Amino acid sequence: MATPLTPSRFGRRAFLGIVHVAAAMIALTWFDDLHPVLRATLPARAAAVASLGAAVHLGVLDQSPAERIMFWLGLGMAVTRVWFLGDASVERAALVVIAAIALMLPLALLLAPRRQRLPWGAATVLLCLAAGGRSILPTAPGGFVALSAFVAMFWTLLSVLERHARSADEAWGIAHTDQLTGLANRRAVMLQLEEQIGRGSDEGPSCLLMVDLDRFKALNDASGHAAGDEALRLVAGALPDVVTDWSSVGRWGGEEFVLLLRGPDAVDAVDVAERVRVAIAATSAVTASVGVARLRPDDDVLSWMGRADAALYRAKAAGRNRVEVAPADDHRVPDAC
Ligand code: GH3
Ligand code: MG
Ligand code: MG
Repeated sequence: MATPLTPSRFGRRAFLGIVHVAAAMIALTWFDDLHPVLRATLPARAAAVASLGAAVHLGVLDQSPAERIMFWLGLGMAVTRVWFLGDASVERAALVVIAAIALMLPLALLLAPRRQRLPWGAATVLLCLAAGGRSILPTAPGGFVALSAFVAMFWTLLSVLERHARSADEAWGIAHTDQLTGLANRRAVMLQLEEQIGRGSDEGPSCLLMVDLDRFKALNDASGHAAGDEALRLVAGALPDVVTDWSSVGRWGGEEFVLLLRGPDAVDAVDVAERVRVAIAATSAVTASVGVARLRPDDDVLSWMGRADAALYRAKAAGRNRVEVAPADDHRVPDAC
């Protein structure tokens, strides 16, 4: 899922502020004693920073965390360069600090253990600042403070963004997970089916198993909803073990489950469906009926599910606790499903 660069309120304000200050600083150097070529390209550079900022801010650009880091460091370089303009040695030393951070930070974030990215990154940034400070501090203490302030602001913003990205990930997980069983929910299943239809048969056949627990209402009525919930959890726990990592399992709703079979599972779909039926019966809580349908080139989600559903209802009509395959797919040979 794309996470916008500046999602929080604080992030948005600070981001817009920094981008505009950077663009203004670049534009201000127009009044300095510049080489004509530099002067001619100044408006374009200021406009580029401003429009890049706007694009990022509006979420037009979709970036990875590493790209965000590079963006901020690039901006830091632009600001630093303007800040120290006129004092070539200090300017160069400040740029070296930013360049060192630009090189070392992505590396540190890459090597850091997942939950320790921020401390690792902060240590790297501080190390670069401390090393660079030796040459900047004696000649331009004010400039060093300004550089440190920029890096600190950049770092604060990055941690805010990281925190937001993490909570956005959590929200995405909640929105796509079934609370009772922990399986993919209907929304997630729909997405997977649409993606699979988009891929077509590029990676081989794919099959849909529609699973409906038998006489589940009777179980609820006889033993109570808590027992019904427990049976649903048992079934949900058993289903992923029947398929390989190629395939996915979801809860369509109520006492209905969906399995999207891909790779070797799709080749042996009828056998897999039979194993699903046996695994559910082995939970000793309920039995299930299963409808199987292979994806056809002209299918959309509705038609694909419609055929699996029709097969499922034939299984119900034929006495339940059995597998039925959609008619046109019913060759029961390895490449049929
Ligand atoms: P059939 O064999 O024809 O599928 O009969 P059935 O009783 O399974 O089908 P029906 O559609 O009549 O009933 C489904 C039942 O599933 C009704 C509903 O109370 C129960 N159910 C749906 N969601 C949940 C749930 O989250 N927890 C529990 N305990 N029961 C649920
Ligand atoms: Mg049902
Ligand atoms: Mg049922």
